[in-house]
Amino acid sequence: MKLWPAALVLPERTLSGAGIINQILAECAAFGRRGLLVHGRSLARHGTVASILSAAPAGLQVTAWQHTGGEPTLEDLAELLQAARQQRAEWVAGVGGGSVLDLAKACAGLFHAAQPLAAYHAGAALEKRGLPFIAAPTTAGTGSEATLNSVLTDTDLRIKKSMRDPQFIARLVLLDPELLRHCPPAIIAQAGMDALTQALEVFTSRHATWLSDVVALKGVELIAANLEAVYRGASAEEALGLLAGSYLSGVGLSMARLGVVHGLAHPLGLRYQAAHGLVCGICLPHAIALYRAAMGGKYAALSQAVGADLLTWTQGLGERLALRSPFKGRSLNDKEAIIQETLASGSTQANPQPITAADVEWLLEQLF
Ligand SMILES: [Zn+2]
Repeated sequence: MKLWPAALVLPERTLSGAGIINQILAECAAFGRRGLLVHGRSLARHGTVASILSAAPAGLQVTAWQHTGGEPTLEDLAELLQAARQQRAEWVAGVGGGSVLDLAKACAGLFHAAQPLAAYHAGAALEKRGLPFIAAPTTAGTGSEATLNSVLTDTDLRIKKSMRDPQFIARLVLLDPELLRHCPPAIIAQAGMDALTQALEVFTSRHATWLSDVVALKGVELIAANLEAVYRGASAEEALGLLAGSYLSGVGLSMARLGVVHGLAHPLGLRYQAAHGLVCGICLPHAIALYRAAMGGKYAALSQAVGADLLTWTQGLGERLALRSPFKGRSLNDKEAIIQETLASGSTQANPQPITAADVEWLLEQLF
């Protein structure tokens, strides 16, 4: 087994601790006097945006930009880029869930982009390095703070996919457990299932290395140990454990890619307007059942990390977190297109067991 991937990309610096979010603008000042603070609605509603801004060092020019919600699109990104360019921003900070972080990350990365955004979404390489990106997650999570991916939807082409570039990686990450305090339990559950799915798929990926195995297995262990406690309203220590697990799932996915759940989650999420983490959480037990044999000895290692038989535990977890299937009782439309998009996905191609059209069809039968 390889030690690590040919190119190892990690966030430059990561700070963690309760209350550390109040230092974010002092840290951002090191990147320049003008910058953009991208956030979601709930952060403003709970007064966190105001308290972050009130701690800004003198002379720092910060424009706060609120994402209206929902899965981020290329139109959202175009709007955000316009704000950043108008302000002549020197850095972009994202404080929010995966959608906010992905938007802020793409805005920073594509700040100097000369081509239409759809070209980069389709895979064009960046011509010039963008602005420094600073990330603080308010859910745990997508691990987006630690990845070189930004998942955006092209609404014209109806394609939701990940843009990847090593230059997207954060220059600074702040992991503050206080930020999870206002996160509703249902979002804790969905985001946690995304992080769990990611860590598990990284661990079993065909691109796995020694380092991604170490990182991902610890991620699974931390998420398994803390997710239910945080869902029920837990201490800062448990919230930090969950944030760390989510961060490690992101570090891992930059190294080893994912698996069939993420390959299927994008085409399904797009068509059924379902939250990414929920789709992952509902698909995960079926995927484990599908390719359990291909996991080999890793199934036992995962069972040890969660403290029970992996498949039984994962099935029970969905019930304990009250996950409701967004698919049951609905009709399956666009089946052929969903199957083809799943098979074409880089995530699916990283699955340890090669995935066939019949496998995707079987998964869809379990879901609907
Ligand atoms: Zn995910």
